[in-house]
Amino acid sequence: MPAMVDRRALLLTGAALGLSGAAMADDGDVVGQPLRPWRPGQLDIHHIATGRGDAALVIGPDGTSLMIDAGASATPPPAAMEASPDASRRPGEWIARYARRHLAPIGEPRLDALLVTHIHPDHLGDVSADAPLSSSGAYRLTGVSDVAAQLPIGLVVDRGYPDYAFPKPWDAPFALNYQAFVRERAAAGGNTERFRLGVADQFPLQRAPARFPEFEIRNLAANGEVWTGEGDETRRLFPALDSLSPADQPDENACSCAIRIRYGAFGYFAAGDLTSHTFDGALPWRDVLTPAARAAGPVDVAVAAHHGMFDATGADVVRILKPRTWIIQGWHTAHPSTDALERMLSTRLYPAARDVFATGVMPTNEMAHGWLTSRMRSIQGHVVVRVAPGGAGYKIVTTSNRDERDTVTGVFTPPRASLD
Ligand SMILES: [Zn+2]
Repeated sequence: MPAMVDRRALLLTGAALGLSGAAMADDGDVVGQPLRPWRPGQLDIHHIATGRGDAALVIGPDGTSLMIDAGASATPPPAAMEASPDASRRPGEWIARYARRHLAPIGEPRLDALLVTHIHPDHLGDVSADAPLSSSGAYRLTGVSDVAAQLPIGLVVDRGYPDYAFPKPWDAPFALNYQAFVRERAAAGGNTERFRLGVADQFPLQRAPARFPEFEIRNLAANGEVWTGEGDETRRLFPALDSLSPADQPDENACSCAIRIRYGAFGYFAAGDLTSHTFDGALPWRDVLTPAARAAGPVDVAVAAHHGMFDATGADVVRILKPRTWIIQGWHTAHPSTDALERMLSTRLYPAARDVFATGVMPTNEMAHGWLTSRMRSIQGHVVVRVAPGGAGYKIVTTSNRDERDTVTGVFTPPRASLD
């Protein structure tokens, strides 16, 4: 399909030209050159494009690091993408190597924390026959456990620790494998916690917090509860589980953890695979995403929950968050769906300009709604949010995921948006 290849190439070239707007001072991110290293005072959020699931690396202004998910789906092509850079390593290995490269300027690479948004393979790692056993033999190396094998992790946080019993115990191999990893880690004294809803102190800066009081990570939602916006208060959305029929029980996506990162005036929203779909009004409590967005308020950058699928990013979510920048973490031909992408781009839901980036959009997906994907700024590669010291502006830098050179493919600097 030469036309499609040409269009993708054209889109990447267009991205390379960047956007007009009041540019942050040119500080060295140049198309064709390697991404320049993190600098003190800067907040970087890397959306790592492996083609096999979600992974984001946050490097705070004092060098504190947080990884959000380390997915490794086993869904094969052609429904899902080929692995990137290639299949010679597992996704978790690529993610760990990416993190090591970008944490190296700070010192001996380590993750201060890793947040698993929910218990699904594309967020923590599937179990396949080619995944080797850990050194103890208690679990297989995949996703999160692959990352942990290559990088020390100060704290692991998920929504289910320690009993993983809500809304019901697991029997899926990927979930049991992850729990075996967590059990062994906890037994060895590794710090592991359940996501604490409503608080802003579970992921604190650890190196020089006093220098950056304007930085905060707020826990917004998990397990069907949401922060009210008042103190650390939360509100339960799910009805009592025993009042629900088996078909109506909350699913794993609806239990996802959501967070907001703030740095001065800059805001960022990420909510795993939370959904806003109510089954056309039948189950209003299944919409956790809209209350989570309401708790967050307007942000500059929002990750499209559930990979931009049809059941997330509802109209009110878009109206409330009204980000300049949307980021879609895509790995499947269904990512994103037509209606969700149309809402992200809709100036009827909020009038301001916006830019949509994806870590990957498959050609089969482009065939479904090229009239929308053609309006996206980037459809392949890592998407890095670089926030200036103090939160005074940000830019998006896209880099190639075809190898480990981190070659810049585009630099986009939106004018400072007013978040009214
Ligand atoms: Zn997912």
